[in-house]
Amino acid sequence: MDNCIFCKIIKGEIPCHKVYEDDNFLAFLDINPIAIGHTLLVPKTHFRWVYDSPNCGEFWQVAQKIAIDIKNSALNPEYISFITMGNEVEHAHIHIIPRNLDDSIQPALKSIPHLQLSNEKFLEINNIIKSSINK
Ligand SMILES: [Zn+2]
Repeated sequence: MDNCIFCKIIKGEIPCHKVYEDDNFLAFLDINPIAIGHTLLVPKTHFRWVYDSPNCGEFWQVAQKIAIDIKNSALNPEYISFITMGNEVEHAHIHIIPRNLDDSIQPALKSIPHLQLSNEKFLEINNIIKSSINK
């Protein structure tokens, strides 16, 4: 896509701090990091959402490899978080975020008001999803 910043990075039109590349994926340091080593993993083909990628399994396997390699690096984080909200840039991406137990990063889901649903509503939603999965 012409106006996609990640496509421009993939084409080399915008520089990045590349940490990993293979035939299908590119990983680079997030220019607006929330942690030391905050990395973005993107497919080289433009897809809007992570689940649009036809090789979604491989996408996550590469994310796992990079996470483990960062975990075992001299950065020495205690663990790694993945975030895939997908709202900032409209090109599928997985945030790979080195974490420590006492860091100040709040889980994104904690900051969002939670819904109060009745048991009937849970049953209704459950049936909708299950019928879609099992169709
Ligand atoms: Zn793109």
